[in-house]
Amino acid sequence: MMTKKKKRILSILILAGASLTAGSIAAKAQAAADAEKNPKLPGGLDKQFMDTGADPCVNFAQYACGNFTKIYPIPADMAGYGSGSIVFEHTEYAMHSLLEKVAANDPSRTPNEQKTGDFYATCMDTDAIQAAGLKPLQPELDRIAGLKSKSELTDLLAHFQLINVNALFSYGEQQDFKDARKQIAVVDQGGLGLPERDYYLRTGEAAEKTRQQYVQHITNVFKLMGEPEDKAASDAQKIMQLETALAKVSMDITSQRDPKNVYHPMPVSQLAGLAPEIAWTNFFERTGVPGVTDLNVANPDFFKGLNSLLQSTDLDTIKTYLRWQLINSTPSYTLPTAFDEEDFNFFGRDLRGQPQQRARWKRCVQATDGALGEALGQVYVKAYFPAESKAKTVQMVHDIEGAMDARIDTLTWMSPETKVKAKEKLHMVADKIGYPDHWRDYSALKIVRGDAIGNATRAVEFENRRELAKIGKPVDRGEWGMSAPTVNAYYNPSMNDINFPAGILQAPFFDPDATDAENYGHVGAIVGHELTHGFDDQGRQFDGNGNLADWWTPDDAKKFEAMTDCEVKEYGNFTAVDDVKVNGKLTLGENTADNGGLRLAYMAFLADAKRKSIDLTAKDANGFTPTQEFFLAYGQNWCGSIRPQQVRLQVQTDPHSPRQFRIIGVVQNMPEFGKAFGCKPGQPMMPENACHVW
Ligand SMILES: [Zn+2]
Repeated sequence: MMTKKKKRILSILILAGASLTAGSIAAKAQAAADAEKNPKLPGGLDKQFMDTGADPCVNFAQYACGNFTKIYPIPADMAGYGSGSIVFEHTEYAMHSLLEKVAANDPSRTPNEQKTGDFYATCMDTDAIQAAGLKPLQPELDRIAGLKSKSELTDLLAHFQLINVNALFSYGEQQDFKDARKQIAVVDQGGLGLPERDYYLRTGEAAEKTRQQYVQHITNVFKLMGEPEDKAASDAQKIMQLETALAKVSMDITSQRDPKNVYHPMPVSQLAGLAPEIAWTNFFERTGVPGVTDLNVANPDFFKGLNSLLQSTDLDTIKTYLRWQLINSTPSYTLPTAFDEEDFNFFGRDLRGQPQQRARWKRCVQATDGALGEALGQVYVKAYFPAESKAKTVQMVHDIEGAMDARIDTLTWMSPETKVKAKEKLHMVADKIGYPDHWRDYSALKIVRGDAIGNATRAVEFENRRELAKIGKPVDRGEWGMSAPTVNAYYNPSMNDINFPAGILQAPFFDPDATDAENYGHVGAIVGHELTHGFDDQGRQFDGNGNLADWWTPDDAKKFEAMTDCEVKEYGNFTAVDDVKVNGKLTLGENTADNGGLRLAYMAFLADAKRKSIDLTAKDANGFTPTQEFFLAYGQNWCGSIRPQQVRLQVQTDPHSPRQFRIIGVVQNMPEFGKAFGCKPGQPMMPENACHVW
């Protein structure tokens, strides 16, 4: 199960956690035993994590984090483990205790408590899931079997899009890139079972092996569904062929980062010309959005290719593919054990190198957060997010924005005209901290105790209909794209907002007991990171109103690109695993944000120290100056290690650089770092050819 409804929020900070593909059948007793393992949040700067025998000027990641993995080895149920994972797990325990309180079938529960409690309890009820088998999916399987001609496909595809079956393409709504006040329909490439297009096309032993494992996985799933071995194997081959053909007409992940490449507004009639095999007007009506006249066809070539494929592929093969996508898109925790384990075997073990499934309760907590994030989040915030944390973060965000304002003034490469526009955009950034002002209303969503597949399906359909209902309506600027307990953050260029959920505003990222230097290095760098996204290779193409509009003089744009090119080369030289290098272009936006973010945090830290007359030469109990503390805290945002298979997956699919490069790639570009640690020019962390963008 790799498929989730993808929303093009372009810039996310980190992946703290585990995937829902993992999880073992563990009972409540196990949950109680596990509760003792709840990791304690580390304080601001943790000296234990450091390898003080290493030379900070040679390898700062080793110096700041060299002992982390000795203290926190990667648990068997994770593909990697880092500073963020501690916070992620800690938050998971917090959500768990809230859910346990409402899981009993008690009539005095509020409507939201009934929903979250019953969703969670149903997920935990493996006996009922086992007893139900695939029965709840039978009506869907019957619909596929009952298709008599390709002309009947449209209705089924519309239904499948609503319940998140990843069938042939993807569909949703977005803010119009050119007019952010408008919300429009969007269709995009999709329909693949492997994580990304290049998984089908890449050559080499590792890629071949993954494809063989994938075909074997599909074969195994069909066997579990009752097909004889031969038929299952030949069906799997057909699916592989069809998906490979879809991959060939898909855009690569790096090209998709440029908003211009995925923005092709057109009337529905034009889409109908590209892909007449699907009755589009009917399709939109069937998804509850009648009257769509114009939309964004993100990748027109894909729809042209899809149409040829639909013409040349026989109906039986299409049905086989749809059966596969139905079962693969159904969350594996809702399926009987054999399916769940087979799913984990491929997507967890083979693809991510994770030896063991996560405990059932952890998967159920994450599933509930995914389905009812704002119902659970509302209670979470009340119990775990102090008002003081919000107030202090607001102050920090204002400081960092002030630093950006000052930074723009000092940039030597930017013309005065572009500076005016950059500041205009900066001053329009909306700061969202902790949780939304208005919570989502789930009253129309029915959660039924004992119906795991039904609950999961109704929850995604509720969410998809909520999204689609926005088409043609004014934008709600207060909306959040992450639930409050999420240990992550994001910038959305169409909204021009930076968002820091309560989950990430915890120690060590934000620690009320830490020094200012530590907090600026930790959360300050994170705030700076998100703010800089508004001005990275992608974000800079949008203006303060969130519109894709070129506000740069041609000369400034050229200079910007030359400077980012330096980062493309710098990160492209890092070896992630074996023979696999970091993709400097795919990670450019994140690397720019990391570099700019630390610069802004550093400026804000200095301004704050000046304001408070802090002596920057005074050493703390560990012998560090405040400036050293600042850089160490930054480094410790990214302590941890990742399994080799997961690194491979990350480099191919994730716009973030692997964690050690998020440390050294950035400090290498800051001479202030070298100065703070007494490095000599020419040493690895103080190279002559440092890159500077923001
Ligand atoms: Zn980011």
